[in-house]
Amino acid sequence: MTTTTGDPGAGPFLSVRDLYVRFDTEDGLVRAVDGVSFDLERGRTLGIVGESGSGKSVTNLSVLGLHDPRTTHTRGEILLDGQEMTGATERTLERLRGNKVAMIFQDSLTALSPYYTVGRQISEPYRKHTGASRKEAWERAVAMLGKVGIPQPALRAKDYPHQFSGGMRQRAMIAMALVCDPRLLIADEPTTALDVTVQAQILDLLHDLQQEFGSAIILITHDLGVVANTADDLLVMYAGRAVERGTVRDVLREPRHPYTWGLLASMPRLESDVAVPLAPIPGAPPSLLAPPPGCPFHPRCAFVSEVGGDRCASERPVLAEGRSAACHLSAEQKRTLFDERIRPRLG
Ligand code: SF4
Repeated sequence: MTTTTGDPGAGPFLSVRDLYVRFDTEDGLVRAVDGVSFDLERGRTLGIVGESGSGKSVTNLSVLGLHDPRTTHTRGEILLDGQEMTGATERTLERLRGNKVAMIFQDSLTALSPYYTVGRQISEPYRKHTGASRKEAWERAVAMLGKVGIPQPALRAKDYPHQFSGGMRQRAMIAMALVCDPRLLIADEPTTALDVTVQAQILDLLHDLQQEFGSAIILITHDLGVVANTADDLLVMYAGRAVERGTVRDVLREPRHPYTWGLLASMPRLESDVAVPLAPIPGAPPSLLAPPPGCPFHPRCAFVSEVGGDRCASERPVLAEGRSAACHLSAEQKRTLFDERIRPRLG
């Protein structure tokens, strides 16, 4: 059933509350997302960071209603511009995708069809959503290719994806995503396959287009370096849960969760002293078929003894609203441990 439960234009553009996503698999029920909440305002960029399997992509596919309803159980509230997305009909979701929300994937080769020209793949969704003529839609596609920095766009629109370089295909995909002026853009590892220079150009481009279109952006990545210069707000996810949130500036300056400390210590830094070795987080993320009780990070966490007893293994820490970290360490312990044991390792 589709319901409109809020005023479009009032409140955050996207509000996700207590989202749970479970998948039926041959091995049992996978708890992919476990009670995640966040808001996103218009014109802001939210970075969602975590290792693979943390639930960051699954959360966002739920916003788009892209999970197979036969094998997926979704509970919670997803309000997009006042419209409830969980339980919306396929027809409503189809209308919203491309119109209000669009997605950029990591792999432009699979997202673009090899059988159609780039111009056609950008113009068709525009025609479908706006009712524009073929000619108008083609002109719009050429203009979008120009906007994302493709040289000679009128000529290159007639090319097929394999005639584009990796960076140009990624730009073409951004043009395709933005052609209908979506209010929300979800970019899932949009620069992972690209070299560092092209990566920086694509991130700059997203920023510029956001300024022009005023869209909200969700940037999903495993790389804290990518969000550092691009996002306004940050949500760190681990084992299907949100474990830390805040503005990017606050989280990167004073991270409060041991998992975020681990991500930072394992991140290569241009300015760091080469004598300070990178420190990967020991162990591997847990199986979501049987996630650990209590804090899901406790099997890998070096600070369990600072909390004491078996609290980390038995009691689930809660992530509060606003600037917060889901960890049983006291505020004082988080400050001291970070300053004394983590900050020196960051160089
Ligand atoms: Fe580590 Fe315990 Fe904090 Fe979890 S709650 S991050 S196990 S100290």
